Amino acid sequence: MTVLRARSVVVATGVPALFALLAGILTVTAPNPVAQAEEVAAAPAVVRPPLAIAPFATTRALPQPGYRPIPVTDRMRTADRVAFITIDDGVHKDPDALAFVEERQLPVTAFLSAWTIKDQAEYFTRIAAWGSIQNHSATHASFADETTDLNHEICYSQKAMRKAFGSKPWMLRPPYGAGADRFGTVLTAQRCGIREIVMWDATVSDGKVRLATGKLRPGSILLLHFGPDLARDLKAAVRAIHDAGLTPGRLADYLPTSSPEAS
Ligand SMILES: [Zn+2]
Repeated sequence: MTVLRARSVVVATGVPALFALLAGILTVTAPNPVAQAEEVAAAPAVVRPPLAIAPFATTRALPQPGYRPIPVTDRMRTADRVAFITIDDGVHKDPDALAFVEERQLPVTAFLSAWTIKDQAEYFTRIAAWGSIQNHSATHASFADETTDLNHEICYSQKAMRKAFGSKPWMLRPPYGAGADRFGTVLTAQRCGIREIVMWDATVSDGKVRLATGKLRPGSILLLHFGPDLARDLKAAVRAIHDAGLTPGRLADYLPTSSPEAS
């Protein structure tokens, strides 16, 4: 369930829930069925009091008729027995991690902060050879902070990554997973070619897998970081994926709107 979809469900169910509540009150206070039937026959048309809370109030903030939310995914809904390895940031370029990925031909999705690429684009090109390289901001500023320059964080890094890798990202992972539901984030991301916002339901650090809920499931998305111990974390992730009866999958093949474009 995405953040934005979850919000729309709440909005959509709010009004029926209110009527259900009113209906419940009327039922409880009815004097008896026969008298009630006579009263109903003679009753004037029902006049409903105005709602105290305007329904769909949240839609008033929609800035444009053409606005549409970007899907936010924390776990893919798939019956395939796959889980997805994603690696964030890019500060450290651990050679042992690269060797492990190349040996296994692992499909990893690298969410990079553009400032970490520098002159070492080849490292990321190689480690994501079976996966893809995607956007994790320019400077790792929080998208939830209203002073953050979203145009720089999202759009500049789109250009920087296209220059470094030859193709423009179409997935975005906000730093700290924050601010994905802000209109500014969505509008800026759409304008600059982002079609999916990707979160996670499991993290791997210190060689340990930590789950948001329960256990790794088909479609689980694991979050790792380009740190000095990435090789150890990758091995832990692969072990946990296999222990759950799954195999590492290529995230870009599973997102509903996947269609990378080089423009
Ligand atoms: Zn990060």
